[in-house]
Amino acid sequence: MTKDMACFCGSMRRHKKCHPEISTDSLAAKMLSLDSEADTIINSHYSKHNVRPACRKGCSECCSTVFSVSIVEFFLICREMMKFDLKRIALIKQRVLQGISYLNSEHPALLNYFRSDHSDLDYKNMSLKTYELSKGVYIDCPFLAELPNRVRICSIYNVRPLICRISGTSYYTEIEHMYICSHIGANKTIMDCGPSTVDIWSSFIKDILTINHNDTCYRGSVYPLIYWLYLASNDLENLENYLGGERYNKYFQMPYNEAKEKILLRNILS
Ligand code: SF4
Ligand code: SF4
Ligand SMILES: [Zn+2]
Repeated sequence: MTKDMACFCGSMRRHKKCHPEISTDSLAAKMLSLDSEADTIINSHYSKHNVRPACRKGCSECCSTVFSVSIVEFFLICREMMKFDLKRIALIKQRVLQGISYLNSEHPALLNYFRSDHSDLDYKNMSLKTYELSKGVYIDCPFLAELPNRVRICSIYNVRPLICRISGTSYYTEIEHMYICSHIGANKTIMDCGPSTVDIWSSFIKDILTINHNDTCYRGSVYPLIYWLYLASNDLENLENYLGGERYNKYFQMPYNEAKEKILLRNILS
């Protein structure tokens, strides 16, 4: 793709006018194109049924549940945070530290799980373990902003992670009765008009999160946004530096296959 062609993010703008600092065949470009494909799949399912999804900007009950995102999604969000002023960064940092302190005192098993090395678990088992440990844990996403009319909205809506796009709009095939939220009820409700998460999630796991090497599948880390922010908490005031150098090269510039090997096999190939 040349820089005159449409951008990978689905904006319909030209790449050089939209995301010129992200190479078209990088891991970050792959993630942004998956987000765009997910939005398209979800929208086309609902329009086919002539139904509006219950999920919309400003609906935020699910933003207090625990879910995990990949590092490349976190870095794309950091890129967005580079536009924030220091006051806004300080507020997010304060929420992160308060949230981690709450987990430490009220839900230490969950926090210890994030801290532990669980790289031996495959994606499915790791997700189930996180799901089990997170039952009954409610903690506001640090990006939730409260408007004067008390409506709470996502302050990074355009770059929100994939899980935030599919939760409530796509159904989980193996857990029909899983509770989603008070607007939707159980997961089963979504089956009438939304796509299956499998249609979207399988590409995410294959293209972003895992790599096969010598007949073994290796997985990258996924954590809740609050925990990624905690790990980067000393760098939030200087994100340009944090996202520069080797990180910028690997996630935003390097050809996708090479970057995946360097990131996901770093402990094997070093
Ligand atoms: S999952 Fe429920 S709470 Fe979350 S955006 Fe959708 S309708 Fe709103
Ligand atoms: S990133 Fe936005 S949509 Fe996702 S949990 Fe946080 S506030 Fe909600
Ligand atoms: Zn773009």
